[in-house]
Amino acid sequence: MSENHRELDVVIVGAGFAGLYMLHRVRELGLSARVLEAGGGVGGTWYWNRYPGARVDVPSLFYSYSFSSELQQEWNWPETYSAQPELLRYAESVADRFDLRRDISFETTVVRAAWDDGAARWTIETDRGDRVSARYLISAAGCLSATNVPDFAGIESFRGEWYHTSRWPKEGVDLAGKRVGVVGTGSSGIQAIPVIAEQAAHLFVFQRTPNYSFPSATKPMDPEVEREWKAHYDEHRAKDRVSFGGQHVEAPDRSALDVCDEERTRRYEALWDQGAFGVLQSFNDLRTSLEANETLAEFVRSRIRAIVRDPDVAERLCPKDHPVGTKRPCLDVGYYETFNRDNVTLVDVRADPIEEITPTGLRTSLASYDLDVIVFATGFDAMTGPLLRMGITGRNGLTLAEKWHAGARTYLGLATAEFPNLFMVTGPGSPSVLASMITAIEQHVDWIAEAIAYIDSHSYDVIEPTLEAENAWVDHVNALADATLFRLANSWYVGANIPGKPRVFLPYVGGLGAYRARCDAVAGNGYEGFALR
Ligand code: FAD
Ligand code: NAP
Repeated sequence: MSENHRELDVVIVGAGFAGLYMLHRVRELGLSARVLEAGGGVGGTWYWNRYPGARVDVPSLFYSYSFSSELQQEWNWPETYSAQPELLRYAESVADRFDLRRDISFETTVVRAAWDDGAARWTIETDRGDRVSARYLISAAGCLSATNVPDFAGIESFRGEWYHTSRWPKEGVDLAGKRVGVVGTGSSGIQAIPVIAEQAAHLFVFQRTPNYSFPSATKPMDPEVEREWKAHYDEHRAKDRVSFGGQHVEAPDRSALDVCDEERTRRYEALWDQGAFGVLQSFNDLRTSLEANETLAEFVRSRIRAIVRDPDVAERLCPKDHPVGTKRPCLDVGYYETFNRDNVTLVDVRADPIEEITPTGLRTSLASYDLDVIVFATGFDAMTGPLLRMGITGRNGLTLAEKWHAGARTYLGLATAEFPNLFMVTGPGSPSVLASMITAIEQHVDWIAEAIAYIDSHSYDVIEPTLEAENAWVDHVNALADATLFRLANSWYVGANIPGKPRVFLPYVGGLGAYRARCDAVAGNGYEGFALR
């Protein structure tokens, strides 16, 4: 990084979809800005997650930027749900189109950021020894970018190769003829397992908790559908922005318990056959009534039992410990069918836990497995992980880790008291991962850019939430979550996947539309709940 980058208006951490758009917006305000990105290129999630089968679970006509009419009109998506290479190509093309790369430092990780109250500036330090000073620090570090590799004993002794799904090598991995073990059956594992099974000599799937997975609806894009959609893109986007999940769908108006068993099953079957998450929208009380939810959960189990030929394997694949939809549901292409293959073995590591990684493979309490390659599809230290790993220190030496020792506390998921001029794109306490994320990202980036424009045009130096506003927001987020079934699942939404992480429901469950209205009202009332000085 050159000398002229040392005194900036804005430092943005991360060059995924959030960081790219944030850079574009602050440049439009005439501010000097630099993006610091740990990876070697743009794209964030889609730069890192190159594992076989990686694909978006939101239709690409929704999961794409809306800020540029030309971009959304000119870009053609070859498939309805894009695979990782296409999403990476899209991010790269956006970076080129808006000439963003000249303000991005790649392979540069932020390791410390400290607020200087006297100067009203942040000092940001990187793993390359850079020290940069900026008026604003904006985290676009993502919700799912801090990789979780469990602390398995003996991992350093393994003589084969091991990979985490989100650190998959660019050049790919040759699995042909190899004995492969996949640890983890969340969305990443469920996408990768069918593809790996086709390549490997034998695949062992180490499953701790079975998940609900729905058939993907991926197909080649019908040019007629795309043309028709693009003709009305602005109307579609306007509806998405005020929708619950960032993707406009007709809201169901009936309870699952108000219809007879036959009608309910017919509806589930029809929506299951359409693919994707439509079946989760079939009735209005699936997220709030355990009894209603169980009707869908049992329907999914009946599908699994119908697909998987070995009844014992089928039963072990049936999720029973959490209501359907309370963990991020998965989409798959032939996941359950994979367990009918002769070269695939399901190992239940809940009943028979992993004890250690050995030089030749993996040992559970009851057996040893010889492996050439281990794939950890073990997820992320979600939402708070990227922020806490950045080493942020606010006013009076208070670290973010100290402030959040009992769980994240934010105002609107955008800012946190005692950390002035720090903004978080899709931070904890915002809809973020419960929405189609590019829609959520655009809302946050626009709000932050407008807040900065307001502060600068009113000659303020500092913006920071009041503790009262923050406490009220945290209470509101918790109250909404407590009224749903989400609290019943040991999910990464509550930090349950990371040993020792405080159990706090992290995203805002009230819907993107309601959330946007609240953010707009806060801004419209002169940034109510923020102290400006
Ligand atoms: P990211 O894309 O995560 O980018 C953050 C960037 O910040 C990363 O490149 C990272 O290297 C960088 N960074 C972090 N910390 C530092 C640091 N200290 N210093 C420097 N750089 C740093 N969402 C959906 O809505 N639909 C989906 O179907 C979907 N599928 C997904 C599939 C996978 C495999 C994963 C992991 C996530 C998926 N998501 C999905 C969520 C996805 O993360 C978002 O949709 C979106 O890509 C997030 O963009 P972002 O820019 O906010 O964060
Ligand atoms: P994940 O959902 O957290 O799944 C991690 C898996 O690893 C779980 O099965 C977990 O088991 C297992 N695991 C973790 N630690 C383990 C241990 N010590 N021993 C044994 N098993 C262990 O992570 P992910 O699959 O990477 O997905 C994370 C999120 O990224 C998703 O929820 C989704 O939001 C996003 N994503 C989306 C897509 C998509 O379809 N578009 C694809 C991939 C990822 P337990 O359940 O028992 O903890």
